[in-house]
Amino acid sequence: MLRKDVLDSILSYSKMFHPKEGILLLRGKSKSGVVEVDGVVIPPNAIHGSGFSAFGWGMIPIDLSYVGVAHSHPSGYAVPSQEDLLHVTGKIMVIAGAPYEDESCLKIYTVHGEPLKFEVKEGRPTPSHEEFDPEVGGDELGF
Ligand SMILES: [Zn+2]
Repeated sequence: MLRKDVLDSILSYSKMFHPKEGILLLRGKSKSGVVEVDGVVIPPNAIHGSGFSAFGWGMIPIDLSYVGVAHSHPSGYAVPSQEDLLHVTGKIMVIAGAPYEDESCLKIYTVHGEPLKFEVKEGRPTPSHEEFDPEVGGDELGF
């Protein structure tokens, strides 16, 4: 499940970086096997190579609201490469293939590289009732 505006962000971000690869973190939630992506985050210190993209996970606060990573394939062949499967993080991997026109340019895979069906959902963002707070949780074991 992918929100329409998320789809648009991935496609326009991919276009922006073409002919290099672009990479985005996907935020959302996963409930009974369904992953819902409701936002994208541009990773800090991203490296945009011509055959790969990478970034330092160390720069990113550990946050369970990240469900995966999206990146673009300027070749237009939206199939995960060996390299992609080695570096996959999260629950899903989204690959956008050039020319990044619409959802048919987008493919979603499991971390094992199996293609997943997805639907694009129109509409407004679901209100987020719990904001991630890095302060909470740190003291849980300190009794
Ligand atoms: Zn790739």
